[in-house]
Amino acid sequence: MANPLIAIVGRPNVGKSTFFNKVAGRRISIVEDTPGVTRDRIYTDVEWQGRKLTLIDTGGIDIHSDDVFLRQMRQQAQIAIETADVICFFTDGRTGLTDEDRDVANLLRRSKKPVILVVNKIDHISQNDQMYEFYELGLGEPMAISAANMMGLGDLLQAVCDLLPPQDEDSEEENHVMQLAVVGRPNVGKSSLTNRLLGQERSMVSDIAGTTRDAIDTLLVGPDGNRYNIIDTAGIRRKSQVEDESLEKYSVLRAIAAIQRCDVALLLIDARDGVTEQDTKIAGIIHDEGRAAVIVVNKWDAIEKETNTMETFRKEVYDALKFMDYVPVIFLSAKTGQRVNTVLSTCDQVWAQWSKRIPTGVLNDVLADATADVQPPAQNGRRLKIFYVTQQSVCPPTFVFFVNDEKLMHFAYKRYLENYFRKTFDFSGTPLRFVIRERTKE
Ligand code: GDP
Ligand code: GDP
Repeated sequence: MANPLIAIVGRPNVGKSTFFNKVAGRRISIVEDTPGVTRDRIYTDVEWQGRKLTLIDTGGIDIHSDDVFLRQMRQQAQIAIETADVICFFTDGRTGLTDEDRDVANLLRRSKKPVILVVNKIDHISQNDQMYEFYELGLGEPMAISAANMMGLGDLLQAVCDLLPPQDEDSEEENHVMQLAVVGRPNVGKSSLTNRLLGQERSMVSDIAGTTRDAIDTLLVGPDGNRYNIIDTAGIRRKSQVEDESLEKYSVLRAIAAIQRCDVALLLIDARDGVTEQDTKIAGIIHDEGRAAVIVVNKWDAIEKETNTMETFRKEVYDALKFMDYVPVIFLSAKTGQRVNTVLSTCDQVWAQWSKRIPTGVLNDVLADATADVQPPAQNGRRLKIFYVTQQSVCPPTFVFFVNDEKLMHFAYKRYLENYFRKTFDFSGTPLRFVIRERTKE
């Protein structure tokens, strides 16, 4: 599980970075290799009473240096609203309430996100009177702190933790049953492989193609104790009843239903036929549905082999399924059992990638490297600027990029970033989703 994200929002000079640095316990700005460039680290992980939190100083997000100040603040607040679990809205008890504070408070109030109103620079109890005007913001009771003197910081972190949902135990992980769909054209060997995995011949439930049941589910406990629900779309199949062509079509429909309820799809391909149009279609569905996938080239026993047969075949698979070149390909024989023992462990691996979370800080560091290596594209003198990226969800990993202009995020650059992420974080077997959000217009 990723740490909850806590955003620190507020006008410049209210003491956000002072707070940030005090809590982080060290000065955290890093000097980049490029001379003269200091990039402040705007993320830090902290632990309070056993709870791990990631703090973001939104003031450090360089939205647009030439933008008017209020607009920048709104954007920072907007980013916080869209990504954070709790927002700490910082104000300055010495200067008092300002119009910008009121403006941002309105945005935050409307967002319905949990917000803590913080009045900083209350260095002494005698200054508590200065807090009262902040009630006006309608964000509940203000919390007085002094970031510089480290007063009230623990109370603030505790208040943050109180607003978070209870930390879930790892029970969910332990009880996880991987939904595993075995899909492919008729006769590629789905039943044979399923039976091999189950280690026994299952009795056929029905002999009639076109029965209402689309698939047969069987629970399997793997050698490592992991549990799998195998969704076998071939359970119902008797060729005699239906012509070949409609059987093929029917099999795609069944595949869709199975894919929609799976975590990992095992796409079987017949080694003797290579990748057919129908295989490509099913692969496309798996990709579009955002499922993790493993490609199984079955009937490997029936192939005449030379030195590089496997590598050549693998290349052919990636050529035919260009959109899915992240998927592991395994070669086996359901008939002889050769390499069938690699199937479940490969499924475990892609499932782990599919449900993987990358901490926001790391993600933005990698983004900074990627954009330094290859500059974002420009058009009509305007260059794409990516302010910030965060992983919104898993299964599949979905990333939200906040940019100055959506139209400047060309396909090629998106593809470049995807490859960069894959190179850095692996993600084999899982599609990645990139969501682009524009953040300069209001
Ligand atoms: P940011 O722009 O919101 O990140 O603000 P900074 O953390 O850079 O702080 C702005 C100024 O306020 C600095 O001069 C700090 O030393 C000062 N400051 C920060 N926290 C406090 C505080 O609790 N009390 C007082 N008196 N000054 C503070
Ligand atoms: P399904 O329609 O995808 O479930 O395919 P089946 O499991 O019913 O297999 C179709 C045919 O291919 C059967 O005659 C199997 O014996 C055969 N078959 C399945 N796996 C293999 C394999 O690994 N090697 C060979 N040579 N034949 C296989």
